[in-house]
Amino acid sequence: MKCKITTFLAISQHIIIALPALKALLMLVFRKASGLTSQIDLFKRQKLKIGFVPTMGALHKGHLALVNQAASENDKVVVSIFVNPTQFNNPNDLANYPRTEAEDIEKLKSSGCSAIFLPDVEELYTNTIRSDHFELGHLDKIMEGLHRPGHFQGVATVVKRFFDIINPHKAYFGKKDYQQLLVVKRMAEKYHPDIKIAGYPTERDEKGLALSSRNNLLRESEKKEALIIYQNMLWAKEQVEHMAPSEIKKTIKNNFKVSPLGLEYVEIADAQNLIPLKNWDEAKQARIFIAAYCGEVRLIDNLSLF
Ligand code: AMP
Repeated sequence: MKCKITTFLAISQHIIIALPALKALLMLVFRKASGLTSQIDLFKRQKLKIGFVPTMGALHKGHLALVNQAASENDKVVVSIFVNPTQFNNPNDLANYPRTEAEDIEKLKSSGCSAIFLPDVEELYTNTIRSDHFELGHLDKIMEGLHRPGHFQGVATVVKRFFDIINPHKAYFGKKDYQQLLVVKRMAEKYHPDIKIAGYPTERDEKGLALSSRNNLLRESEKKEALIIYQNMLWAKEQVEHMAPSEIKKTIKNNFKVSPLGLEYVEIADAQNLIPLKNWDEAKQARIFIAAYCGEVRLIDNLSLF
């Protein structure tokens, strides 16, 4: 009997040690939508819940936090890695976007990812690399919508195509791209009302810089300068009881004029619909949004004010 128990313990220890390695081996990689769709059908026939995390790769802890969140709530997690050409309004930005496929696959092996979808541009766009048209109303006319024409049409197009292929139970997005989260919710309400859309908090480095694939393009000195964005947002949060939104925005614009960063916009808006606020009592929840250039690299960030 004692011998049996010892053998069982030895085997189970091996299983525990081998589990992460086994999971990594079981992670599936699809480059074609047809292969992924068949696998998803199989998962669904087994009544498994599917979470989906769309990304453009160059994965960091922010992406992996979404994957882990999805793994904690679903049986299977699909992660897509696709640098979507239609959401880039600046061709240099598209050309310089970091691409680290092999490292990304390695990182996903030790996460809760079950399947990676790595389509090429043709797989999603066939012959015409063009966005479909979505009615995004006000969301397409302010902040990122205003400063990056066509960007959200591209985002809505690609996310809808992923939803058509994967049709997950729940899709996971970061509040780092807060306006994008609202755009996706709007698109999904119309075309995929059964998919739950969830937003998760921004992961930052130890000093407060929001993690972003574009940070890979910053020099060490620029990473320090980029902290000005977070510092100004924190300052704004402290001023809510003392200053009107317009005064806060004016001071931040002046702060950026004497900084090494180039401010593109600062906005304070209702967190529900992104309508800019004149007075604090116009909203139950408010957020501040900043877009700024650090050298050649365009960074965006936002923070809840209340
Ligand atoms: P991207 O690869 O930049 O398109 O981002 C893929 C997803 O990760 C989007 O839903 C982003 O909002 C989210 N994301 C990007 N950076 C962060 C971050 N620092 N913290 C949390 N989520 C993030």
